Amino acid sequence: MSKELKILLASPRGFCAGVVRAIDIVEKSIEKFGAPIYVRHEIVHNKQVVENLKKKGAIFVDELDQIKDSSRPVIFSAHGVPKSVPEEAADRKMFYVDATCPLVTKVHREAERLNKNGYKIILIGHKDHPEVIGTMGQIPKKNITLIETIEDVKKLNLQEPVAYVTQTTLSVDDTKDIIELLEKKYKNLKSPIKEDICYATTNRQSAVKQIASQCEMFFVIGSENSSNSKRLVEVAKKAGCKKSYLFNSNNQLPFREIVKCNKIGLTSGASAPEKLVQDFIYGIKKYVNVSIEEFVSTKESVTFKLPVQLN
Ligand code: SF4
Repeated sequence: MSKELKILLASPRGFCAGVVRAIDIVEKSIEKFGAPIYVRHEIVHNKQVVENLKKKGAIFVDELDQIKDSSRPVIFSAHGVPKSVPEEAADRKMFYVDATCPLVTKVHREAERLNKNGYKIILIGHKDHPEVIGTMGQIPKKNITLIETIEDVKKLNLQEPVAYVTQTTLSVDDTKDIIELLEKKYKNLKSPIKEDICYATTNRQSAVKQIASQCEMFFVIGSENSSNSKRLVEVAKKAGCKKSYLFNSNNQLPFREIVKCNKIGLTSGASAPEKLVQDFIYGIKKYVNVSIEEFVSTKESVTFKLPVQLN
């Protein structure tokens, strides 16, 4: 083991303020109201987080009608929910705590305000992602159109006034290209007052962008269904590291390829616990000497308050 592998560790990485808050909400709800607590949808997109919470007394369901005991509290996930979900909970007299990230709620309120002011709204996002379903469900269907690509922009045929909002975890660069085309198509296009792609997405992508070109391989720790993690892999590839991969505990560590490298990059998505990053490094250390260099592109200090029900 004479060779040394350098790991360029991106920072910021891992948990964002919205994920920390959502996990806190489940844990504090179990403490305050006792187990079991129902959680609609994976609270955040990470298997380990979900499994840990299950052990503490959380029961995960896809829809409210799967809840066997409606006298127990239910928590809505960080991705946000369509308006119909809290309405259904209220109809069924269920007590609920909303763990929607405040930055997703901001997009919801924005869409509502634009709708009230008569705009046709374009939502830039990924079809079937829970956040997109939640945002679409804030206003009548006929007033909001989902687009995913440049091609979709070309097909749009909306009557002005037109405005756009976005999913919070998109690729900053791809979204910029889509918006530029939208601006050409709709001269008076109304943009969000404050950028919808959140600080955590922007910062994690920016750190990866600055180091990926120096790396022979790049790994993003995160789940398959984590939008922000998948975007980090795309960003690393685009920034020059073709061998960029999403890695989670179901994957085999490609150590044969890793040990051939001199420098690899490493980061984690906003819903991936730091322990998974450290486990990954630990796994590599079994095969090669490792030196770690942390690349800090910016420091984060964002925190969000818990909902009033938990005070
Ligand atoms: S990624 Fe951004 S929007 Fe999503 S939970 Fe984290 S801070 Fe909130």
